[in-house]
Amino acid sequence: MIKFKNVYKKYKLDKSILTAVKDVNLEVNDGEIYGIIGYSGAGKSTLVRMLDGLEAPTSGSIEINGKDIAKLSSKALREQRKKVGMIFQHFNLLWSRTIQENVELPLEIAGVDKKKRKEKAAKLVDLVGLKGRENDYPSELSGGQKQRVGIARALANDPEILISDEATSALDPQTTDEILDLLLEINKKLNLTILLITHEMHAIRKVAEKVAVMQEGQVVETGDVYDIFQNP
Ligand code: ADP
Ligand code: ADP
Repeated sequence: MIKFKNVYKKYKLDKSILTAVKDVNLEVNDGEIYGIIGYSGAGKSTLVRMLDGLEAPTSGSIEINGKDIAKLSSKALREQRKKVGMIFQHFNLLWSRTIQENVELPLEIAGVDKKKRKEKAAKLVDLVGLKGRENDYPSELSGGQKQRVGIARALANDPEILISDEATSALDPQTTDEILDLLLEINKKLNLTILLITHEMHAIRKVAEKVAVMQEGQVVETGDVYDIFQNP
């Protein structure tokens, strides 16, 4: 379970202080697909960076399975970060590496031996529907296929949480739906908690169960997607 408790993030600017995240309280249950929606500048990426342990909150706490991640030792934080997979709008693939090598990269960093890396990456490439494309390079793939590689790579260390940070924002509507369907399938198959950060209401409606609406650093509404996006 993920719990944000009274989380604030303030940045010191030259002559002022910018409150990027303001008193956020959220609870995400295991196995849930939880949407966070808001316009650009709402504070979504700041929340993600704090959840991934890249930045600490100015005040408040973020707990994953009962542990305050700001209080972890640097070694424990490194272990924790393996349990969080990320996918991005621009895929962040390494262009000089093959699909197989891109997916193997997190395993290589984690020190997994070559044979296990190969097996694991092959399984993941199959899971995301790219079997047979292992030796191709990212430049030979469509946008949707690139994101499939991103998803396979994000799953390499068997994460408990997958954060999708605008992962469909660069894709056309049909490809967006295919990627969302894949996320849904993975959520069910692996019982993976997915945090879907987006500015697209369609994505939330299609796959999320719960949603938080962010505006100017604050969560202004949370609840079941059905209740929140129901037209009166
Ligand atoms: P979103 O992801 O919803 O677009 P962000 O979390 O990126 O929103 O940004 C929220 C606010 O915090 C914005 O006003 C942004 O300019 C500001 N901000 C984000 N990161 C920093 C930073 N490192 N330093 C100063 N201001 C930042
Ligand atoms: P490597 O470390 O394997 O040599 P590259 O130098 O090819 O990786 O890429 C470094 C980074 O630059 C990667 O994160 C990749 O996403 C980005 N990048 C490289 N080429 C392109 C490109 N043509 N379009 C977009 N991003 C690219």
